[in-house]
Amino acid sequence: MGGTFDPIHHGHLVAAEEARWQFELDQVLFIPTGQPWQKPVGVSPAEDRYLMTVIATTSNPAFAVSRIEVDNPGPTYTVDTLHRLRAELPDGTRLLFIGGADVVQQLPTWKEPEQVLALAELVVATRPEFDFDGLVQTLPGAAGRVHRMEIPALDISSHDLRARVARGAPIEYLVPEGVARYIQKRELYR
Ligand code: ATP
Ligand code: MG
Repeated sequence: MGGTFDPIHHGHLVAAEEARWQFELDQVLFIPTGQPWQKPVGVSPAEDRYLMTVIATTSNPAFAVSRIEVDNPGPTYTVDTLHRLRAELPDGTRLLFIGGADVVQQLPTWKEPEQVLALAELVVATRPEFDFDGLVQTLPGAAGRVHRMEIPALDISSHDLRARVARGAPIEYLVPEGVARYIQKRELYR
């Protein structure tokens, strides 16, 4: 599961755990982006985002966090990360990329979208009213490679959490407690 994780929140964690269960995954690897090329301004330092992701995931034995993009200077592309993961994994390992519904909309703008779908199947967390079939039909290379995953909808986004911190609104119960404490300690999003 890739993301900016600025900050990681319960929407991410619910999607990850549901994917682990629905797709019988051995592991969910959270991959915080290094310098996201589509969100270059105002993103928190990679180390802060990495540490918040570690704090949020340590209690789940199936969750792990990768530094593969954080340690890579310059813009990171999902296709390059997937190539590197594939090279490290035993042949025949099933690789799934977990994301929210916006991933399907954005995928055509990514570097080598068809290659992304060849390297990994896509698991899309959706809401009941979401037009999944309509979106997937427009994606080249999507046949049999994109899976819909219904999750309990949590209307939480990192963008909204940052805005809440900036105006002094609480973020308790929207993020794991350790993440809220970390944001406070590092004075993020003020
Ligand atoms: P921002 O508001 O800054 O865009 P975000 O909350 O969307 O941040 P990202 O780090 O951009 O978080 O998202 C990583 C992945 O998690 C994306 O694939 C996104 O679709 C998915 N995601 C984000 N929020 C939710 C949520 N509430 N439920 C399910 N999936 C989510
Ligand atoms: Mg987003």
